[in-house]
Amino acid sequence: MNGEIWDVVIVGGGPAGLTTAIMCASRHLKTLVLESGKWGGLPSTLYPDKTIPNYPGFPDGITGTELVQRWIKHTRKSEFVVMKMARVTEIKKSGEVKTHDETYKGKTVVIATGTRPRELGIPGEAKFNKREKGVCYYVTHREQFIGKKILVVGGGDTAVDAVLDIADVVDEIYIAHRRDKFRALDDSVRKMEKSKAHILLNTEVEEIRGGDKVEEVVIVNNKTNKKQFLKIDKVVLAVGLVPNGEIFKKLGIEMDEKGYIITDEGQQTNIEGIFAVGDIVRGSFRLLIVRAAHGAIASQKIYEYIRKPYWSEKVISR
Ligand code: NAP
Repeated sequence: MNGEIWDVVIVGGGPAGLTTAIMCASRHLKTLVLESGKWGGLPSTLYPDKTIPNYPGFPDGITGTELVQRWIKHTRKSEFVVMKMARVTEIKKSGEVKTHDETYKGKTVVIATGTRPRELGIPGEAKFNKREKGVCYYVTHREQFIGKKILVVGGGDTAVDAVLDIADVVDEIYIAHRRDKFRALDDSVRKMEKSKAHILLNTEVEEIRGGDKVEEVVIVNNKTNKKQFLKIDKVVLAVGLVPNGEIFKKLGIEMDEKGYIITDEGQQTNIEGIFAVGDIVRGSFRLLIVRAAHGAIASQKIYEYIRKPYWSEKVISR
């Protein structure tokens, strides 16, 4: 530790973390943002090419990449923010944030570590989910699906959006969902029903098979127990998200049974000076606008916590 004390150390450089940084900077709070993967979070990694239809101010939509690039540029512009690539290994109650090489100290810490795709854990998944062998967890680049036979698994928006994203370029596409109805947006489900997708309800994937690459999947109808073997080139497992919570397991932070952090309406956790924003927060509605809103709320509360302005509604005691 070099003795430097930051007003705010933000762990995670996705939409929520970056918005927190932008807003803290406008309050002249000395802010450090740490990110271990790719700046921009899920819109950068999960859906860079996808047009986001509902971010206010972009009536024609905007892709995840474009939007996030604007946020990154906005963050970089501020003299009060430093952005660093580093993997955080531990967060302490004292405000110390450890990475492999350094320990940073913040008067406040903001956890913005988000979520990652859930793995299904079925036979064959681990064999094919690396190096383009045919199992992936989201559609990033449509061109990889051109002329292929695809199975999408899941009944949420990620699965249905994946079908809609690639249906026009694939040879054949199936979607398997374990229930008899979808949880995705009705509008999207209707579009999918009109597409060329074969919809397999009450269907679960038992195994993914192949030599070097995916060649076949075994699916089973959970009402009739009937098995089917589909010739498939690629499987998109869109079965939800899990919180990235490994680094704060020891912190004693209050979480729900699934590992999402519980905060008050000011994004403050049960540990004084530690805030949480974005998808890692329990009950967070998973929209970019909500992630950004968390950042705005947290920055205001952090400002009140550190500077204790005269107009602060409630002076938070240290
Ligand atoms: P999700 O809404 O949690 O859906 C996951 C799907 O996977 C569910 O249908 C679930 O089935 C299924 N599933 C989970 N575990 C399974 C298992 N072991 N075997 C078989 N199926 C399994 O996740 P998501 O689709 O990734 O969406 C995450 C969040 O982002 C949601 O809030 C979503 O609305 C939001 N999102 C929004 C948009 C949009 O606005 N266009 C786009 C993408 C994501 P059950 O239904 O039976 O639980």
